Amino acid sequence: MGMLEGKSVIVTGAGRGIGRDFALMMAANGASVVVNDLGGSATGEGADATPAQQVVDEIRAAGGKAVANGDSVATWEGANRIIQCAVDHFGTLHTVVNNAGILRDRIFHQMSVDEWRAVIDVHLNGTFYMSRAAAPIYRSEGRGRYIHMTSTSGLVGNFGQANYAAAKLGIVGLSKSIALDMQRYGVTSNCISPFAWSRLIGTIPTDTPEQAARVERMKTMETGKIAPLAVFLASEEAADVSGQIFGVRANEIFLMGQSRPIRSVHRGEGWTPQTVAEHAMPALRGSFYKLERSAEVFSWDPI
Ligand code: NAD
Repeated sequence: MGMLEGKSVIVTGAGRGIGRDFALMMAANGASVVVNDLGGSATGEGADATPAQQVVDEIRAAGGKAVANGDSVATWEGANRIIQCAVDHFGTLHTVVNNAGILRDRIFHQMSVDEWRAVIDVHLNGTFYMSRAAAPIYRSEGRGRYIHMTSTSGLVGNFGQANYAAAKLGIVGLSKSIALDMQRYGVTSNCISPFAWSRLIGTIPTDTPEQAARVERMKTMETGKIAPLAVFLASEEAADVSGQIFGVRANEIFLMGQSRPIRSVHRGEGWTPQTVAEHAMPALRGSFYKLERSAEVFSWDPI
């Protein structure tokens, strides 16, 4: 018996990359899976039903249960159709995996409003639409699982990804809010921050031998390595795991930090701009975070 026997699961963006491996492993563990994927380009243009259908065919060939869905998570109507697809085919819904994603990278001072909106729509709004559309089922049945994909581009930082970083950190706040608001109904909500070789990072230039070597090392971060944690989080065994942020990179699993006060200063008479400069900043400066990027914090090769 798999860990998800009898469960009805939706994985968004499951036609490729990390989501595809989620769908395959969830189905192998007994879940009935809605394989959602719009099938557009990496920047979100166009649509193609083939990737989702191929994953469904693969699951069925292995004896599993799956159905393809080509709606976009980026509209409220599309999200509702995806949820309805699970109910129509599998009777109910136990887990939503908010995995669909696009990138429109651009240095901040050149980012267009369209580039901003497109990324916020798929990641942050899409995660809200999917989660909100599933909530009435979870509430009435007194259980449910949400798994959302975040990124160290938001949690730590990266160049040229203001839209993506804002969306991915927004998803962390959304996940925590869902975990708090729906705890009373036995619902859990967690984030996974993956590192994996997929088309979303496959565009890294390999002009120099150093870059080529780096890309070879990155290829060891297989998309399938993220799936075991997602299957666990979707299972009954994860009932007491909620409001957390996990990282997965090849064979490492991380519990990521969450924001808490790390240092405080106090003046009985209150502050003036001058005393902030003379007292508060010198006292706090030693605990400032460096302006680091994800690659500087995860500075060792994938294990
Ligand atoms: P991917 O491009 O291989 O897969 C994303 C899938 O989402 C694609 O198949 C695409 O068609 C689909 N999609 C895009 N917009 C959609 C929409 N509106 N509706 C439905 N489907 C849509 O990318 P991936 O690397 O597997 O990324 C999966 C998730 O993991 C994303 O949320 C991404 O931001 C996150 N992530 C990935 C990495 C990484 O290292 N690969 C790092 C951090 C976060």
